[in-house]
Amino acid sequence: MKKTILTGLRPTGNLHLGHLFGAGQNYVKMQDDYEFFLEIADVQALTDNFHNPEKVRHNVYEITADLLSIGLDPKKVHFFIQSKIPEIAELTVFYSNLVTVSRLFRNPTVKAEVAQKKELFGKNGESITYGFLGYPVSQAADITAFSGEVIPVGDDQLPLLEQCREIVRKFNHIYGDTLIEPEPKLSNFSRLKGLDGNEKMGKSLGNAIFLVDDKETISKKVMGAVTDPSKIRKDDPANPEICMVYYYHKLVTPQNELETVCKECKSGKRGCVACKKELIHNLCEFLKPIQKRRKQYVDDPKRITEILEEGTNLARKRATENMKKVKEAMKIDY
Ligand code: SF4
Repeated sequence: MKKTILTGLRPTGNLHLGHLFGAGQNYVKMQDDYEFFLEIADVQALTDNFHNPEKVRHNVYEITADLLSIGLDPKKVHFFIQSKIPEIAELTVFYSNLVTVSRLFRNPTVKAEVAQKKELFGKNGESITYGFLGYPVSQAADITAFSGEVIPVGDDQLPLLEQCREIVRKFNHIYGDTLIEPEPKLSNFSRLKGLDGNEKMGKSLGNAIFLVDDKETISKKVMGAVTDPSKIRKDDPANPEICMVYYYHKLVTPQNELETVCKECKSGKRGCVACKKELIHNLCEFLKPIQKRRKQYVDDPKRITEILEEGTNLARKRATENMKKVKEAMKIDY
């Protein structure tokens, strides 16, 4: 029997290279080895986009197309829409009794996200909503609704998983052994930096290459990338290790070509403009098969809807079975 893996993505925008290298490529590798549930977390996206439902709805389809384009096979991965599984909302209510408000405020992932969303939640988080504060509880419901055993996470998300594990232990302690405690599967790829050298990559920062970007967009972004500031003239020697262009070359440039980039940069034989043009070419080549696959799906929107329906039906079946056990354990199986 394959173990169940569960992961989710908030549909708030298209996937970028950070998503691909940080998680997507791992998902593709794992799809053969696990029973794989992939949640398009629209309800969770609404916790900080409640004022913009159109954006969330549009991105449900966009992000599904992105995920399919990287090589996830809908025969192996069950794509489902969170809001179509009412058991998740039900479990969230049950679990909300098992976690204190102060514990949620102390969750480092919640704290970090509130700090990033000052415009929405106030300078000190004074306008934080009940829904946003509670999203780790809803995440515990996401995982346990499908008996998720393995959860792929980056180390920044470990506190969320720990919160889920705490809820599971408390539930089992009070109501008897019912839920499975999920294990983390840590990604060994550290977070991808933005083209501007920023540790965080994002649309609002304008420092990310998206899977859907065309050559013109990629060119504009790469031409603005941060290089070694000590290189003033074309033939000045430089240090590629502090250059974001080289950082991206390392991701998409073939090894022998990469060695030349490094050598020529250090000796002053190559100029930054030529180096950036080479990177633009390599990025486009890298994205070509992804964009080709994406186009096949986008040209057939009915297929995307079918994939979401099939995955959602299967996920719902699993959630209904689990909910029966939960309600029996809680003595509310009237
Ligand atoms: Fe960066 Fe290339 Fe310029 Fe060297 S030559 S600093 S690697 S852009």
